[in-house]
Amino acid sequence: MALHRQVEQQDEVEINPLYVRELHFSVPRHRLAEHGLLPDTALQAVRDELTLDGNARLNLATFVTTWMEPQAEQLMTECLSKNMIDKDEYPQTAELESRCVNILADLWHAPEHGSATGCSTTGSSEACMLGGMALLWRWRARRRAAGADATRPNLVMGTNVQVCWEKFCRYWEVEPRLVPMEAGRLHLRGPQAAAQCDGNTIGVVAILGSTMDGSYEPVGEISAELDRLAASGGPDVPIHVDAASGGFVAPFIQPDLIWDFRLPRVASINASGHKYGLVYPGVGWVVWRTPDALPEDLVFRVNYLGGEMPTFALNFSRSGANVAAQYYNFLRLGFHGYQRIQQACQDVAMHLSGQIARMEPFELLSDGSDLPVLAFRIRDESAGFTVFDLSERLRTRGWLVPAYTFPANLEHVSVLRVVVRNGFSKDLADLLLSDVQRHVRVLAAHPRSHVPLAPAGKRQSFAH
Ligand SMILES: *Cc1c(COP(=O)(O)O)cnc(C)c1O
Repeated sequence: MALHRQVEQQDEVEINPLYVRELHFSVPRHRLAEHGLLPDTALQAVRDELTLDGNARLNLATFVTTWMEPQAEQLMTECLSKNMIDKDEYPQTAELESRCVNILADLWHAPEHGSATGCSTTGSSEACMLGGMALLWRWRARRRAAGADATRPNLVMGTNVQVCWEKFCRYWEVEPRLVPMEAGRLHLRGPQAAAQCDGNTIGVVAILGSTMDGSYEPVGEISAELDRLAASGGPDVPIHVDAASGGFVAPFIQPDLIWDFRLPRVASINASGHKYGLVYPGVGWVVWRTPDALPEDLVFRVNYLGGEMPTFALNFSRSGANVAAQYYNFLRLGFHGYQRIQQACQDVAMHLSGQIARMEPFELLSDGSDLPVLAFRIRDESAGFTVFDLSERLRTRGWLVPAYTFPANLEHVSVLRVVVRNGFSKDLADLLLSDVQRHVRVLAAHPRSHVPLAPAGKRQSFAH
């Protein structure tokens, strides 16, 4: 009986290449089906659905890598089965992680060569969480040692921070001291940061660069203002640099910009390996200036690598593939390879912004000279269409260009943002420009014929 049923079942599934012709076939959605499918059928069914996703290469909303070399993909496939956390079983994967930490620490001018303190994470969000926790723990220890109250911590940052910092504050019950944007100041500056600091400030977050427009916050200026504050008897406040994107850009194309561990006040830095580190998601990195910037009781030491690699993470299991791919990129590209790629991205961003600036309705808010990112708005309220309309029209050809409103105090400003990444060539940029031009012509000629797609003033969700 059992055998017979099995054969019957097999017959049934073997006709499955015809599944699309059979009305009764539908993919199980919310409950497991009793029986499975042949692998090719399952593959096809899942692929079919995923064709509805946007085209990753035309996704100008995201900072995250959408293309890697076939060799890197092969390496990642080979490493997918290795669990990063099993450092005992996969000591060489752990060794590659340690090398990547040291390479980044060197790029960011950390004082300790070859024995840097840091780790890989699932992305910058986890890395920021770890950086923030270290600040919080150190602040508590300082307060307790001084016999002061250690129950009301705050963190100073701009309203333009990525959502991970609001999460950090919510999860750890830290008061977020958000410095609003102003017209002409789209990110945190030194005087405004220092003005928000007091004895309960665990740190200041400086962003390289801002999610909103790609601009770099002036870490040097913020640091100098905090130096002044400390010298005048105020609190001595450390800086964490959220260099999710810029950590892999500035060292290569803005080497003279002083934003990293060259500033003694910078305690820790994070970056996303899966953004301009050019690895598929998800991998991030966090590095501390010195071992003492990372409180001992947050660190779990493993001694089979000579005690060099402290482990500090929120999650446990994760594939080793991304770390291997990060190291592959470091080997494959070297300093000059990264420099050429980031420079090419910046050249394309500057080309785009130069052309956008010349188009009648637009005003640039950033031109791509910091991160290769440009943000622009519609200059004239009476243009008859909004950035949301244009964003939606661009989507008809597959371009994903997000439109969103700025945070406090510029909620009335809505912009379009283009993130230029590896693989977005000048040819593609020119195609985008001609599509923008075409849509602007149509929208301007028929100002009220379209339905607004999102009410102006409503903050849209946008990628990262
Ligand atoms: C993208 C981004 C993050 C979050 O990074 P993930 O790697 O996506 O977790 C945090 N901060 C900034 C400034 C970012 O751009």
